[in-house]
Amino acid sequence: MSETIVIAEIVKGAVHSTTAELITAAQALGSQPVLIVPCTDAGTADGASGMSGASRIVAAKSEVFANYDAAGWAAALDAVAPSGVIIASASPQSKDLAARIAARRGISVVQDVVKIDGHNLTSPIYSGKAMQTVALSGDAVLTVRPNVFDAAPAGGSTEISVVDTTGDMATAVQEFMARASSRLDVAEANIIISGGRGMGSPDNFVHLESIADTLGAAVGASRAAVDTWESIPHSMQVGQTGKTVNPNLYIAVGISGAIQHLAGMRSSKYIVAINKDADAPIFQHADYGIVATWEEALPVLQSTLSSMMA
Ligand SMILES: Cc1cc2nc3c(=O)[nH]c(=O)nc-3n(C[C@H](O)[C@H](O)[C@H](O)COP(=O)(O)OP(=O)(O)OC[C@H]3O[C@@H](n4cnc5c(N)ncnc54)[C@H](O)[C@@H]3O)c2cc1C
Repeated sequence: MSETIVIAEIVKGAVHSTTAELITAAQALGSQPVLIVPCTDAGTADGASGMSGASRIVAAKSEVFANYDAAGWAAALDAVAPSGVIIASASPQSKDLAARIAARRGISVVQDVVKIDGHNLTSPIYSGKAMQTVALSGDAVLTVRPNVFDAAPAGGSTEISVVDTTGDMATAVQEFMARASSRLDVAEANIIISGGRGMGSPDNFVHLESIADTLGAAVGASRAAVDTWESIPHSMQVGQTGKTVNPNLYIAVGISGAIQHLAGMRSSKYIVAINKDADAPIFQHADYGIVATWEEALPVLQSTLSSMMA
């Protein structure tokens, strides 16, 4: 029998809150989904038991889930997930996983879904220049953008079953060595302040960090900033070849607004741009624009925010 399956979003070994949004997306397809939680310890699935709306929760237990590896995760999940429509988050990791599972099963993949209307799925294409709507007929793997669907309400008490899964894998990732950073990741933030080449130097990002600390925001960057300055890591890059973000507030500072940057942030709820060039393309997409240098604008923004938050 064909079912709708939600793969829980796992961040740092725990079920991420966006999983509740995936349950709502599954319900928009007209079904109560099976929620699969990839884990090394079945206790991880407890983090999902309070999310209402799933028909059952399966803790898929395997050592392969200790570190992300597309081939290993896809093999292990393929072995445990029933046939049907599979829904995952449109995070970089889960988009990669979705494509792998779809390839293993020989079914379609639709990435970055932002609307589900019956069996019609809408998602951005051509770096967000256009939207496409495709009709779902049969099994497929979908990824759903965070912050688009409401989270399924808390208060559920769905029973959890545990399944050991290994899949048929040749290699396993033993360890990740991430560049240490204590800052919030742009992909998880509700507010982002990003800097571009107009910041002039990576040292000037300290002004963005200071505002980010006041607002509880993450600091992002354009590709030009990442490519120009070694100390600005790729993990901060927003855009077509960086991360896709969907925060409530995106503040672009010294960023021109190239189409490839817009591809990663144009669906933000509110966009504020600070740029010294009144003709910068970013202003065409901004809800609020400040024509000024960052040297003029950021101190005013910082002191206003600090007094508001005091
Ligand atoms: C295949 C491909 C993929 C790409 N992927 C990405 C991607 O993922 N993300 C991305 O960002 N780009 C991406 N790019 C690059 C993109 O085309 C642009 O080159 C890049 O976004 C420009 O970055 P920027 O706006 O920081 O720099 P610039 O275009 O150099 O703009 C700097 C801006 O800062 C302003 N400025 C200068 N000084 C000040 C000041 N003191 N105060 C305020 N404003 C100031 C200027 O007026 C200007 O508008 C990609 C390109 C290609 C071809």
